[in-house]
Amino acid sequence: MTAATDSLATGSLASQSLALLERLTGGPAPRLLPGHVWLAGAGPGHPGQLTLDALAALAQADAVVHDDLVDARILAAAPAGAERLFAGKRGGRPSSAQADITALLIALARQGRRVVRLKGGDPYVFGRGGEEALALAEAGIPFRVISGVTAGLAGLAAAGIPATMRGINHAVVLATGHAASDEGGLDWAALARLGQPIVLYMALRRLGPIVAALLAAGMDPATPAATVESGTLPGQRVVEASLATLESRARSEGVCSPAIVVIGQVVALREMLAP
Ligand code: SAH
Repeated sequence: MTAATDSLATGSLASQSLALLERLTGGPAPRLLPGHVWLAGAGPGHPGQLTLDALAALAQADAVVHDDLVDARILAAAPAGAERLFAGKRGGRPSSAQADITALLIALARQGRRVVRLKGGDPYVFGRGGEEALALAEAGIPFRVISGVTAGLAGLAAAGIPATMRGINHAVVLATGHAASDEGGLDWAALARLGQPIVLYMALRRLGPIVAALLAAGMDPATPAATVESGTLPGQRVVEASLATLESRARSEGVCSPAIVVIGQVVALREMLAP
């Protein structure tokens, strides 16, 4: 066991992260009290992308309810005795209904646990963190939200793609690729007309119809595009294409979830900026 993992196992990370936070802020760090829930973002994957607030939260938890996108090395930062509860929602693994997850958070809080709900990326960006916060508010459970680094921006950066670049774009669209049809879906033609880069979460399964809608709306088929799979993680893989070839490239390369899709001229900067 290395010195670092040893200090994690003994829980000294708690005092270290709190002390560091207090030193930086010049005041007492918030304490995770029994019966409270903190909704924290774990970032896109790499432990270095964890915020100090999220680390200090984890270090104080006695129950961590996490998604399967959260890296095992990050979960290791919670005290060894903290209960780790999986509440993922991705295909191929046992999944929990959203109602069960919120019920679990509320039940743990009512048992007087110090609960961290750890979600991939930022909890309020396509992570259903808003729904969980609403349920906690309705149940009268005190909660706090700790922002995280969102995959749509950090995944791009890790691939050498700036989300904005002077002279190229003045806006960037963050969108989900699987807006349920009962929510009316997205107006892809309107997004195409904006002429700004489109960054898509959860878009692999619906890439075909999305690309078709963008092309039908007049978007240039030669627009640079890419998928960033497992961004910031050791298995990170970037597949470049044009809008016209995006779906077939993603399919032939076997691009898997989690992946961010980006469509726009900023992708071309990768030629100079790829790590
Ligand atoms: N709240 C998260 C997003 C949750 S939705 C955030 O702010 O990042 C889950 C989607 O996020 C995945 O389907 C994928 O599109 C994206 N994602 C999460 N982690 C990723 C990673 N490391 N690399 C690429 N995409 C990722």
